[in-house]
Amino acid sequence: MALRKIREDGDEVLRKVSKEVTEINERTLTLIEDMIDTMYEADGVGLAAPQIGILKRIVVIDVGEGPIVMINPTVVEAKGEQEEIEGCLSVPGVSGKVKRPLEVKVAYTDEKGQGQTLVGRDLLAIACCHEIDHLDGVLYIDKVTEFIN
Ligand code: ZN
Repeated sequence: MALRKIREDGDEVLRKVSKEVTEINERTLTLIEDMIDTMYEADGVGLAAPQIGILKRIVVIDVGEGPIVMINPTVVEAKGEQEEIEGCLSVPGVSGKVKRPLEVKVAYTDEKGQGQTLVGRDLLAIACCHEIDHLDGVLYIDKVTEFIN
């Protein structure tokens, strides 16, 4: 188990566009393990690789049903709308309301290199959108309609 340092708002790595993963090798799998460890240690629902300073299109999410690893994820369908309070491990001490789709379908590659699709609703839809935004240098605070504190 290895924990990585979570980068915080103001660190320019969070504003960069991450690169597609073209090969899943030992280093990729170690990175994924470290991301999962770091997410659980920080008590987060998700973590994107740029949050630990790695500009690769990898996210990990756990909304309470076990970890999901997504490599090169893209939202291919979005339905409905919800507005919930979000926070981010990279923006400590703040939360705010964000409008997101109620349901999304995400296409991605898993850690075995297999193509997958996942339909996420409610919190899982929010987590997918929030984490995929990180891969494009977007933070939820860019989309907040109202800050809560
Ligand atoms: Zn975040």
